[in-house]
Amino acid sequence: MAENNDNIIDTEFMEVNPDGTPVDGTNANVLSETDAADKSAEDKSDEKKPDEYEKVCYICRRPESVTGKMIDIPGGLSVCPDCMQKTFDSMSRIPFGGDNSGANIDLGNLPQFSFMNLQDLMSGMMPPESQRLKKKKPKAEGEKAVKPEIDIDHMLPPHAIKAKLDEYVIGQEHAKKVISVAVYNHYKQVKANENLLNDNSDGVEIEKSNVLMIGPTGSGKTYLVKTLAKLLDVPLAITDATSLTEAGYIGDDIESVVSKLLAAAGNDVEKAEKGIIFIDEIDKLAKKRNANQRDVSGEAVQQGMLKLLEGSEIEVPVGASSKNAMVPMTMVDTTNILFICGGAFPDLEDIIKERLNKSSAMGFVSELKDKYDDDENILDKVSVEDLRKFGMIPEFLGRLPVICTLQPLSTEMMVKILKEPKNAIIKQYQKLFRYDEVDLQFEDDALTAIAEEAKKKELGARALRSILEDLMLDIMYEIPKDDNIGTVIVTKDYVEHKGGPRVLMRTDERKIITAG
Ligand code: ADP
Repeated sequence: MAENNDNIIDTEFMEVNPDGTPVDGTNANVLSETDAADKSAEDKSDEKKPDEYEKVCYICRRPESVTGKMIDIPGGLSVCPDCMQKTFDSMSRIPFGGDNSGANIDLGNLPQFSFMNLQDLMSGMMPPESQRLKKKKPKAEGEKAVKPEIDIDHMLPPHAIKAKLDEYVIGQEHAKKVISVAVYNHYKQVKANENLLNDNSDGVEIEKSNVLMIGPTGSGKTYLVKTLAKLLDVPLAITDATSLTEAGYIGDDIESVVSKLLAAAGNDVEKAEKGIIFIDEIDKLAKKRNANQRDVSGEAVQQGMLKLLEGSEIEVPVGASSKNAMVPMTMVDTTNILFICGGAFPDLEDIIKERLNKSSAMGFVSELKDKYDDDENILDKVSVEDLRKFGMIPEFLGRLPVICTLQPLSTEMMVKILKEPKNAIIKQYQKLFRYDEVDLQFEDDALTAIAEEAKKKELGARALRSILEDLMLDIMYEIPKDDNIGTVIVTKDYVEHKGGPRVLMRTDERKIITAG
């Protein structure tokens, strides 16, 4: 015991002062150290206590396992929901505002609590995840895990943006060029706004370059925007203009397009404010001709969108498409949001032709009346005047200064769409077959036959997938039956339903078996 008395203090032999404190300084230290060690151990066990012991209601003394989740109140106390509700109920019976009972409580016009239901309050405390706003993160360098192909902070020049788009979108050269320049200018402007806020010393304010995209269905309008958003790694919301109505009518409010973007940005307002909103079917908002009723889903929506397109702070519901009392709201500034509106604008060609024919039929240089009838690229010649005639209001068109048109897809373009883009449909099927170690090939004239069939359907590139889906069904059903099959070749005859695909066996690749 004597050998090991560093930590053990025998009080019998210890000199002490009259007040009980030891005389020896070293001993005092030893004592206080041991004390401290004991104390901290005690503290630690104290810290654990709340986890180990159940909470007990301060009023009824029942444990949490019986009462349900406790409500913590200041002072480390807990009250069970039942007792809390009883408290509310009894409060509602107190005659606030003075009475004849002599209680002499006169607290003015305090509200009555009788309508208060604790259940409502508690469910209101924690909104569902889709309605919660994300906290703004402090920006750390190198925070982004996946680097976007085009960094909006270090914008690539337009030709480089177009080169990236070329990898995915076939043809549509002019549209890709226009979009690349618009995006380049837009994000440069965003950056300038961020860096030199309020630097309007020269009085030059660059207006937003929102885009209006005109092109037949299936020509790649949505695809172009989707690709762009993916390359830029900005949130994208795609909405259909047909679902929008003027506020107060059945349908989505105009602000709902911004809530969609907010949802796409994971409820991160800052991220959403640099996003892209694509509004499809914009031509359906055209003014109804000869309408004698209020046009709540057409012209009124165009009017309602003006504020949004121009850039303003708007209040949007979080996690819902309409405003109501139970949905939290937040402010979103649309100044830096790029709006792209797209539509097929059927019959716009006729309006353009009519205008062109009118101008060319006059004077010495008058031309043949049907000169533009077979012009496939007539949409290129569209002017704001034509769009006004179509039914778009001038204020709306004024806020979409960049107009780009997409061509109807030719057979050659469709063949390219089948095989060239990074995630071409054929490449997708080939990958599927590779999982079964089968090599899938398409003969060139088979691809042309598919493209021609798609062209007949007048659905643009959208028809390609459905045709291929049909063709591949039998192959995908039959091939996995036989492990010996090594290669499948889709022929023109198979596409035209005149024969079967060529199948090469794994064991003897040279042996050609014609199936079907
Ligand atoms: P819309 O013009 O009606 O919005 P989409 O963009 O939705 O047409 O096109 C439908 C599909 O067709 C796209 O998902 C895409 O795979 C394909 N597609 C259309 N145009 C092109 C194109 N120019 N290049 C590559 N794929 C295209």
